[in-house]
Amino acid sequence: MSDPAAQHVIVVGAGLAGLACALRMGELSRHRKLRLRVTLLEARRRLGGRATSFLDQQSGEEIDNCQHVTMGCCSAYLDLLRELDSLRHIEWFDEQYWMLSQGEGRSRRVRRSVIRPGAILGVGPGLVSHATSFVRASFLSLPSKLAIGQAALAISTCDRTEHRDHTFIDWLASQSQPHEAIERFWRPIVVSACNLDPERVCAATALHVFQDGVFGGANAARIGIPNAPLARLYEHAESLLASRGGQLLLGEAAEEITPTRVVTRIAGGTRVHNADVVVCALPFEKARRVVAQRTNDPRFAAMDTFNHSPILGVHLRFDRPVLDVPHAVLVERDTQWLFRKDREGRQIHAVISAADAWMDLSEDQIATKVCEDLHACFPASTTARLEHIRAVKERFATFAATPAFERSRPGPLAEDATSPQVILAGDYTATDWPATMEGATRSGRIAADTAFNMLQRS
Ligand SMILES: Cc1cc2nc3c(=O)[nH]c(=O)nc-3n(C[C@H](O)[C@H](O)[C@H](O)COP(=O)(O)OP(=O)(O)OC[C@H]3O[C@@H](n4cnc5c(N)ncnc54)[C@H](O)[C@@H]3O)c2cc1C
Repeated sequence: MSDPAAQHVIVVGAGLAGLACALRMGELSRHRKLRLRVTLLEARRRLGGRATSFLDQQSGEEIDNCQHVTMGCCSAYLDLLRELDSLRHIEWFDEQYWMLSQGEGRSRRVRRSVIRPGAILGVGPGLVSHATSFVRASFLSLPSKLAIGQAALAISTCDRTEHRDHTFIDWLASQSQPHEAIERFWRPIVVSACNLDPERVCAATALHVFQDGVFGGANAARIGIPNAPLARLYEHAESLLASRGGQLLLGEAAEEITPTRVVTRIAGGTRVHNADVVVCALPFEKARRVVAQRTNDPRFAAMDTFNHSPILGVHLRFDRPVLDVPHAVLVERDTQWLFRKDREGRQIHAVISAADAWMDLSEDQIATKVCEDLHACFPASTTARLEHIRAVKERFATFAATPAFERSRPGPLAEDATSPQVILAGDYTATDWPATMEGATRSGRIAADTAFNMLQRS
């Protein structure tokens, strides 16, 4: 039952940032004995925002908007899944399969390498096999491996915040990385993790991925892949929130947000929700549209300069198995990752990050390009017939993590502000993380702590 004397917090947007924020507010209020009532408002009828699944009308299957991958280093996101009793839906892999296809027709040669990320240098307990897997990798020449090893050493000791003003390609040039090492090693990792090419991405953002993830030790570098549609990961969220004194309102889109009020659109009109504190956990392009009085708020001036980077997720079903590994990185191919979605490998998912060049292609053109890459790296697939394709284009998938963006990411509150403010959460806020489920979850926690402190002081 709702407590009328409790202070009211409204969190707008039930993506990972909003979910993490609302659940943490409930938890904080329980432990620190502040009477709070939390309302989580979401425009759609499902949870998870950009990390969710939907019913594909054509196939009748519940599919993800795109394959989402997590890593062992994503501690906040994994904690959230634990709270939601959904960690069991994540399957962990120590090994990655890297495929390099060279030549054409009968002279085609496919090199398959099994890599255990975690370390290049083999320093630390249990990392020798990881380093050995890199030494053995057949898609890189010895000079490239030596250069990557040298750069890995520099990464392990550098202060990444000193590299906010440069792009990662500048940083790679400063480390004399050969073209082959850039194209076959650094680029595939950076494009997948940061959704931007090394020529555009902020060096500090890319370095973060290698410091905390790829070279961060055996556990940090493990990749986790959900084995259930993403929406199922949140199926306990509503009851968990209710057990912490909160409520979830679906199907209400915020039209205007102020520090103490949210106006939503509902069937037949509008509704006004009053609050003591409001957290806006919307993507930046939506936040700047609905937060009122934004002209006086320096956080929004920066937001007007932010840009997006698109991602393409392609669901494919063949008449026979085409993929004999759980997932694969396709080296020097436009299709970057393939994931096996069933036991046999008939159903697969292709991911293309930083997918600007694909956004205007038709589904047929997309099928042709992805199948070309699949056939090149898995030649046995050439005899398979494509039965079904569904391409999901996400034009506004993530922010473009350029140096200019990194310099101006807003915090939850504007510094030095004297009047009440809307608290901001979302993957784009200042967490130091690329656009990831981890960054979004962390931003939600930071927003909850900020809101809680404000209420304690009031
Ligand atoms: C195609 C794709 C692939 C990705 N792959 C990965 C990956 O492999 N690994 C990874 O870690 N990250 C990945 N990401 C990034 C990750 O999904 C996002 O960084 C993260 O989900 C963002 O969460 P958020 O809560 O900040 O924002 P969102 O998820 O955008 O949540 C915002 C919520 O607000 C709601 N909303 C919008 N407008 C209103 C309104 N007016 N009123 C009320 N509610 C509203 C939305 O419906 C949504 O639920 C990927 C993203 C995309 C799009």
